Amino acid sequence: MTDEKLLALCEKYGRRALIWRRKFTGLLPEVNRRRLYERRGCESIFEFAYKTAGLSEQQVRRALNLSYEFRDKPTLHALLTNGSVGMSKLARVASIATTENEVELAEKVRLLPQKALETLARDERFLKEQNASPKPLFEEKSVRAHTTFELSAEVQTQLNALHAQGQDVNAILMELLQKRREEIAQKKQELAGQPTQSRHIPAAAKRLLQEEFGQKCSIRTCTRPATEIHHTQRFALAGTHDPHYLAPLCKSHHQIAHTIDQKVQRHLSG
Ligand SMILES: [Zn+2]
Ligand SMILES: [Zn+2]
Repeated sequence: MTDEKLLALCEKYGRRALIWRRKFTGLLPEVNRRRLYERRGCESIFEFAYKTAGLSEQQVRRALNLSYEFRDKPTLHALLTNGSVGMSKLARVASIATTENEVELAEKVRLLPQKALETLARDERFLKEQNASPKPLFEEKSVRAHTTFELSAEVQTQLNALHAQGQDVNAILMELLQKRREEIAQKKQELAGQPTQSRHIPAAAKRLLQEEFGQKCSIRTCTRPATEIHHTQRFALAGTHDPHYLAPLCKSHHQIAHTIDQKVQRHLSG
């Protein structure tokens, strides 16, 4: 057997083993409910799962818990039993699943890798917390605790001098920040609407995005560095690199953005 053939077989069998193991795991909650493990002379579902398929107690526990949490969410429950996705992906979204969002969530579980699902769940929990207790300042600080910084000695000296003159330092700073936002908006306006054939984002637009968002993912609550620039308006449709519709995103948020996109596309074509 050649090396290539051997490796290809490993991959083929490995993929199948994974799916069959998931399917087996998906059956366990029902076996447990009917206490069928007793018929095989086992003390518990854990012993049954270990003897039958070598599953650890932890894996069985997770399946039982998920099955319980999804008891009123048929779409997610089906994913657990049919073996199409892994349990670790389902576990990522269990805490944010509701009877209202479970269909949409099941689709995301199918499309997104585990890490992006983790990000999605974190975002969802953050939004929920904010709605439950609107303490925006505190929340924002707690999310971005590590972005605190110090004013340089030079800036401190100048601000202190202004303060000593009886000037409202906060008002001056707010005005500067406002001017900065207006300048960025102005530059965006200038770059907007220029039609182009090239799929490459022009350097001027990239510079502007960096001015606005720094190195960071443009999702407000995200602290990861941006690695990709996403067109919120599909380039194929718009034919421009209008910076109003460009968003630097981290890898997870980019993947999440595209699952939303796919849904929109389906609505358009269907
Ligand atoms: Zn994109
Ligand atoms: Zn992000």
